[in-house]
Amino acid sequence: MRLERARVIVLGAGLAGAATAYHLANRGVGPVVVFDPGTPGAGATGRAAGIVSEQLWDRWDVDVVRESKEEYARLAGAADPSVYRTVGFARWTTDPVVAAALRESSDRLRAWGVPVRSLSPDELRFRVPIARCDDVREAVWHDADGVVTPSALADLYVLGARRAGVEFLLGAPLDSFRSEEGAWNLATGGRTVRAPAAVVAAGAWSKRLLASVGRPVPLAPYRTQAALVRPPSPAPVALPSVHDLDLDVYARPEDGGRILAGDGTERVECDPETFRASGDEAFVAHLAESFARRFPGWKDAELVRAWAGVCTATPDRRPLIGALRGGDGLYCITGFNGFGVMRAGGSARRLAELIASGGGAREAARLAGVEPTRFAAEPRPFDPKPGFTLDGGADPRF
Ligand SMILES: Cc1cc2nc3c(=O)[nH]c(=O)nc-3n(C[C@H](O)[C@H](O)[C@H](O)COP(=O)(O)OP(=O)(O)OC[C@H]3O[C@@H](n4cnc5c(N)ncnc54)[C@H](O)[C@@H]3O)c2cc1C
Repeated sequence: MRLERARVIVLGAGLAGAATAYHLANRGVGPVVVFDPGTPGAGATGRAAGIVSEQLWDRWDVDVVRESKEEYARLAGAADPSVYRTVGFARWTTDPVVAAALRESSDRLRAWGVPVRSLSPDELRFRVPIARCDDVREAVWHDADGVVTPSALADLYVLGARRAGVEFLLGAPLDSFRSEEGAWNLATGGRTVRAPAAVVAAGAWSKRLLASVGRPVPLAPYRTQAALVRPPSPAPVALPSVHDLDLDVYARPEDGGRILAGDGTERVECDPETFRASGDEAFVAHLAESFARRFPGWKDAELVRAWAGVCTATPDRRPLIGALRGGDGLYCITGFNGFGVMRAGGSARRLAELIASGGGAREAARLAGVEPTRFAAEPRPFDPKPGFTLDGGADPRF
């Protein structure tokens, strides 16, 4: 068994792990090794819709998504501009109670510097001409929201990390991961890597991994779905992303005139090893009904494929990013509640800054509110409540 030394081991090569490795290496922390039993982006990242939106629920989120967007635009601009595109995002409701909540959430967003605005019926028709929205009571628009191709973005981070010297150990099972004599030891495929710091970025698998080293955190993996459809005729204009709050359906433009639509989120815990990876009939039927009602032109859209992926919920819907209890160099970056594509770049940068600074107070402050230690050492089970909520801003720290 070969023993190698590194400065940081990253467990997981989804968007969060790949971006963390990229940022660590670019801060010159020393050798970084990434381990994933699969391939980069094979978890939730490769199954995500890729909507990137500033219409979130606290100031931290908005700042982090802005940092992500800048980085995604830069990485994509240098390699393949189609990976990140600004398309705008419209969200609407017909329900008067939800309309009031949507207006309140817009007020909060504007107070955080996100220039969302209400759309008049004419503007909504202009922005989303394929939608039948006569009954809409409130529609909100943000110009600067975008879409990414998540797996391609993860590849760009992997490429950038490799160029900066990161080594990836992929495609072999984890033989062991434990703390021994003051360092983290990871064994896989006949090799053992030893490092003073380790970052768990294993998405839905993080719950089990962290529990196995005696650092349980309150995470609930849950299943969510998406589908790719091909409308009978391509839209006459460039489409934005859209979200119908009443039907609980979102859609974003894909290449070739296709549409990627979701939500189909299940609010019960599931096992990332045994979840059903194909889309349910009920989810596809709900999409078809929603299209017939709201997007008549997509009524006869051809289903290209439907699938599911596993995301990770936390009790307060905020992610878990930072040092774990124990003070022995174990960190995590997970618990994105279905919004990890848009948060990964900015979050990973902040985590890498914290690790590179050796736990600096200023760097820790940039993760205030998402630190894993905000929860009790012995987490209790909870029901996942993910999704595009309109709540927000309740935490006095933001
Ligand atoms: C259908 C769907 C639609 C979505 N749409 C959006 C969206 O529009 N916008 C958005 O922001 N987010 C969206 N998400 C959420 C987003 O996909 C996730 O939040 C994000 O990809 C999480 O990235 P990650 O790197 O944390 O996890 P993952 O991508 O799941 O990566 C975890 C990695 O850990 C690896 N792993 C497993 N076991 C181990 C182990 N023992 N050791 C080391 N590694 C291990 C896995 O192989 C995997 O590669 C969507 C998700 C789904 C499923």
